[in-house]
Amino acid sequence: MARYVYDFHEGGRDMAGLLGGKGSNLAEMTRLGLPVPPGFTITTEACRAFLDTGGEPAGMAREVSAHLADVESAAGRRLGQPGDPLLLSVRSGARFSMPGMMETILDIGLNDESVLGLAKVSGSERFAWDSYRRLVQMFGSTVMGVGSSHFERALALLKEACGAPDDVHLGADDLARLVETYKDIIRTETGESFPQSPAEQLRRAVLAVFESWNGERARLYRRREHIADDLGTAVNVQRMVFGNLGSDSGSGVAFTRDPATGRPGPYGDYLPDAQGEDVVAGIRNTVPLAELERLDPRAYRELRAHMATLEQHYRDLCDIEFTIERGRLWMLQTRVGKRTAEAAFAIAAELADEGLITPDEGLARVSGEGLARLMFPRFDTSATDVALAHGLPASPGAAVGAAVFDSAEAVRRTAAGEKVVLVRQATTPDDLPGMIAAQAVLTSRGGKTSHAAVVARGMGKVCVCGAEDLSVDLEARRLIAPDGTVVEEGTVLSVDGSAGAVYPGSVPLVASAVMRFLEAGATGDAAGGPAAATETAGKETPGVVDAVARALNRADAVRRLEVRANADTPEDAVRARRFGAQGVGLCRTEHMFLGERRKLVEQMILAGTDAQRDRALAALLPLQREDFTGILEAMDGLPVTIRLLDPPLHEFLPDHTELAVRIATAQARGGLPAAHDVELLTAVTRMHEENPMLGLRGVRLGLVVPGLVAMQVRAIGEAVARRLSAGGDPKAEIMVPLVGDVRELRIVREEVRRVLAEVSQASGVRVDCPVGTMIELPRAALTAGRIAEEAEFFSFGTNDLTQTTWGFSRDDVEAEFFSAYLDKGVFPVSPFETLDRDGVGRLVDIAVAEGRATRPGLKIGVCGEHGGDPDSVHFFHTAGLDYVSCSPFRVPVARLEAGRATLEGTDASDSR
Ligand code: PEP
Ligand code: MG
Repeated sequence: MARYVYDFHEGGRDMAGLLGGKGSNLAEMTRLGLPVPPGFTITTEACRAFLDTGGEPAGMAREVSAHLADVESAAGRRLGQPGDPLLLSVRSGARFSMPGMMETILDIGLNDESVLGLAKVSGSERFAWDSYRRLVQMFGSTVMGVGSSHFERALALLKEACGAPDDVHLGADDLARLVETYKDIIRTETGESFPQSPAEQLRRAVLAVFESWNGERARLYRRREHIADDLGTAVNVQRMVFGNLGSDSGSGVAFTRDPATGRPGPYGDYLPDAQGEDVVAGIRNTVPLAELERLDPRAYRELRAHMATLEQHYRDLCDIEFTIERGRLWMLQTRVGKRTAEAAFAIAAELADEGLITPDEGLARVSGEGLARLMFPRFDTSATDVALAHGLPASPGAAVGAAVFDSAEAVRRTAAGEKVVLVRQATTPDDLPGMIAAQAVLTSRGGKTSHAAVVARGMGKVCVCGAEDLSVDLEARRLIAPDGTVVEEGTVLSVDGSAGAVYPGSVPLVASAVMRFLEAGATGDAAGGPAAATETAGKETPGVVDAVARALNRADAVRRLEVRANADTPEDAVRARRFGAQGVGLCRTEHMFLGERRKLVEQMILAGTDAQRDRALAALLPLQREDFTGILEAMDGLPVTIRLLDPPLHEFLPDHTELAVRIATAQARGGLPAAHDVELLTAVTRMHEENPMLGLRGVRLGLVVPGLVAMQVRAIGEAVARRLSAGGDPKAEIMVPLVGDVRELRIVREEVRRVLAEVSQASGVRVDCPVGTMIELPRAALTAGRIAEEAEFFSFGTNDLTQTTWGFSRDDVEAEFFSAYLDKGVFPVSPFETLDRDGVGRLVDIAVAEGRATRPGLKIGVCGEHGGDPDSVHFFHTAGLDYVSCSPFRVPVARLEAGRATLEGTDASDSR
């Protein structure tokens, strides 16, 4: 029979799937001999069973009782024992951390009797009644479903009646009265009494935590973080320790390194005479952790020793929650801490320097997503713009948006296309939708470990918190800066999460130090190592630039996949090369037909005779040749895959409605419409297609428009000949789009051979280009073995392959209904963003296997958008592709991820 409960002594960090992150780490700390209040963990399996059946799994209650008995006997007292009650906390803890998203219930075991016992043994009646009212409130709202506003209103009324400015000024009697009021509220709202039985409190609290897995907040968070919905949460039941027993008590959060910058050394917040929840809630402002050294040197020394133990043991940045109960330190939580992208790179490099991890482990711990974030621009404050206020730099980056003062407004304005900054005194989990919608979060209260800071960092969202100088007036929907400036809702603010500053208006942006480094073209060995990288970056943030350079160097050294760029112009090709691209994987020739040149394509389409068409094509030829020459020069020595024209021709003609209106207007004015307009309208009408994406495009164009393939191939061939004559090393490859059958490719290939032979003869230079095809239709993938008879290389066009495999119109569906699909969990992320491994991925696997069976060693790449997506890069590595090709800006990301993909399944990747 399944086992549902594990004592902290029995678990360990490798059991996170079953015990959740929190439970497995509590077990690990217990095993390390750290002072963890005793307790046990109810597994995620129990939660899943409960959510599946709606009932408590058989045997769970018995196991809970047995483990509770152990905790009781270790404590020498029973749960809720009237004279000296053992109290418990019940906390959620999923496989992946979801800060504040699920429920916590504290002080389980208090009732009308044991509250008196607690008052006696603690020596504080006020403390006992305050604990009891917290329990009734939390239990009432979380377990019994009473709206928390009922309790908040009762508390506010009481404070008003007593003339108390805040909770601290309420006495024991007041709180005792409040407990009665709370109990009445529960009775009125639910028809049930607050349960006096400690065992019942425990049982119902556990089930409520299970249920909170499916709460709205938790679901939203999971969707955003791509956490699977079927994991379930574990529940940790633990003896309560109290940080609110007076000035020799307190609670805090500590990091072994700064999670915002990665700088080594202890870092954190402490709140004397407070429960842990008060620290995170950001209600009272905390003091820096260093202050604890003065307040309680012994506890501080002990904490520092435990922090060192944990960092050595986990070989990574750890974050820790602790409580000091009357001078005694208790460790309540640890985990490998979330960090900003900047900190991730810096810490990986430093830990490798310290010898705690290998360079490969360092590489496994950074990510392409993080690198992309570091490439974002920062504010240019050189001409500053005096800051409106300063707060804590809680989550780095630069963001500009209109100030809004609640979550709903943030969501509303964002949906209407506006960029917003969410301003709050402090955020709560209810603010999550607004935080997701906003460009940045700004709070006037709370430390770097407050809810706003933790959640924003997790999302990679810009955040400044604890800007105490700002007075945030939520009612009036405005804030007032220290200099008296009033910022009404809708006023634009610039928030610098790296410096912790807020500016009025929109501050201009400059490239980040990492971007400047990459732009300088310091790639791989060319970087000359970290020293050169630091120099390149200037003084701004040498640490992070150096760390990025090292990670990229390592990735380049270990990766098997080559990385090319999608580039249509010589400028893009030059930039791509600086970013480390090893060639052009896709040059979309249609992009060369825009602007003035559109007219020439128009003439080609409208041509009534062969001679007219030939003239139009002849005019296009030199322009194309110039473009190709430029790109081949920029990529000299590296492959350049040039794709023949792909889109339907009517994309080059004016819009039907526009033309019709123009003609109708001319007629309405009594004149004659322009003959050219009439001619165009006829052509547009003739060429109209209901489903142009499935119509006359790709190779089909080449087969039906006489002279088109020949013109493009001639331009490519002549460009190659020119570069060869100039002493260059051009490596052009000709790629045919949207092939579905080998015969299509055969016809085009014969034409390519014929034209290249002509070019060779005419120029006197032997021009030879491999001819390959895109695999972007299911039929192409399924007949790849035949297609490889004619194709000298394959390149997966995963944009079209996704479109045609799913039957999703790539131009429509994302805006139309993807948000509903994401909401309903059909997929966690758009298949146009991250490759759908089960469907499209299977076609890729088939095509790779069958293509190479026909033509061993067949070169295969991908040039759809997925080529720069981290998760997809890992798939392409495993699928055995030779290269990925992506937009120039994503080249560094793809290099990094290609390196990380090589480490997958090795010790390095398992190190976390
Ligand atoms: C593709 O379909 O993946 C591709 C690269 O081609 P395009 O996006 O130009 O259709
Ligand atoms: Mg395509």
